[in-house]
Amino acid sequence: MKHATGQLVITNGNLIDGNGGPSLRDATVIIGDGRIQFVGPAAAAPAVSPTTNRIDAKGGTIMPGLVEAHYHATYFNVEKLEDLDIKYPVEYVSILAAVNAKLALECGYTAARSGGCLFNIDVWLKLAIENDLIPGPRLAASGREICSAGGLMDWNPEYRKIGMEGLVFTINGIEDARRAVRALVKDGVEWVKTYPTGDAAWPDTNDHHTLCMNFDEMNAVVQTAHNHKLKVTGHCRATEGIKNALRAGYDSIEHGTFIDDEGLELLLKRDVPCVPALYFEKASIDRGPEFGMSQAVIDGHKETLEGGAASALKILRAGGRIGLGGDYGFAWNPHGDYAREISFFVRHVGFTPLEAIRCATKSGAEILGRGHEFGTLEAGKLADILVVDGDVLEDISILEDRRRFLAVMQGGVIKAGQLSQSQTTN
Ligand SMILES: [Zn+2]
Repeated sequence: MKHATGQLVITNGNLIDGNGGPSLRDATVIIGDGRIQFVGPAAAAPAVSPTTNRIDAKGGTIMPGLVEAHYHATYFNVEKLEDLDIKYPVEYVSILAAVNAKLALECGYTAARSGGCLFNIDVWLKLAIENDLIPGPRLAASGREICSAGGLMDWNPEYRKIGMEGLVFTINGIEDARRAVRALVKDGVEWVKTYPTGDAAWPDTNDHHTLCMNFDEMNAVVQTAHNHKLKVTGHCRATEGIKNALRAGYDSIEHGTFIDDEGLELLLKRDVPCVPALYFEKASIDRGPEFGMSQAVIDGHKETLEGGAASALKILRAGGRIGLGGDYGFAWNPHGDYAREISFFVRHVGFTPLEAIRCATKSGAEILGRGHEFGTLEAGKLADILVVDGDVLEDISILEDRRRFLAVMQGGVIKAGQLSQSQTTN
């Protein structure tokens, strides 16, 4: 991805650096050749040439670009889970993924860690973004997801004989687990997404207290993935599934819904980040009836929302790391709504705005393995920056409205927002 050349100065903003500390009034940020050169009070800023380009933040907020830590570029706002795999061919899903990536960037998300995708689209989407062919977040790619036969993602009845070509490797045992990871290694993914447990969406046979992979299979995934320097994450709701994942050596935990004290201890021991992805639950409860969800499914989502919120707060208060990402890509939880996750954590989970922003920036960048490059506003880092019209600490929901962005910047280049030339209006 090309960086800006020359200097750019952002002035007159309330600075949130992403480290979680208090904000700084009347701050200045100086960018040189796409990297941050200075961050601090205007009074202490070094002099720049009077002809240097300037952005006046007009008393609004200067903060790091947001990081979606559980992103599904290829989930195309489906109305039914089954549609994910069979509704469209790979050609069309690839185009939809490119559209979703552009939208994410316009929504202020300058980076995203994939939580699984159809076929191997993420890897190529990432390349197209890195080569500036299409706009989008800096991506950490994952490919097809892994679930054991009969588990949450193996939903096509045998009599249909349609298998699961695009979304999931259905495995039986450790040989299959290794085979699936080895295929992903060749495809070039960075994260392997697995399904250790079920979900409220599938109450009959794979609910949120059901295990969908056994420990041996999970362990085989991790051993094979780590051997080839890939990371592993998994959809973990049930208490035992969370602990199996942590004992097997998972590098992050998705959801972590019903973590117990023993699980928390395992998580903290290796400082494994957790991405609760709660807004999917909230949207399912609020809008599920519109999409024909049964009462059993909605009741399950209520239980996982409550459990997930309590676990997220417990992890944060115990000193653990939380990434924010809301599993967007369903009709009731569509792309574009990403920052609702942040507001939800402030209004309903009990995070302070500064804590939620740290999770949505610094922790997200760390989950991508790129915390040294971006995620906070510090000298030397890439200028992945949001300039926002308004005080987001006063009203966190400003981040949900992309019309409020003056600038969404990657490497000092303004890619979206009011000051960008290419901003679309729909
Ligand atoms: Zn997901």
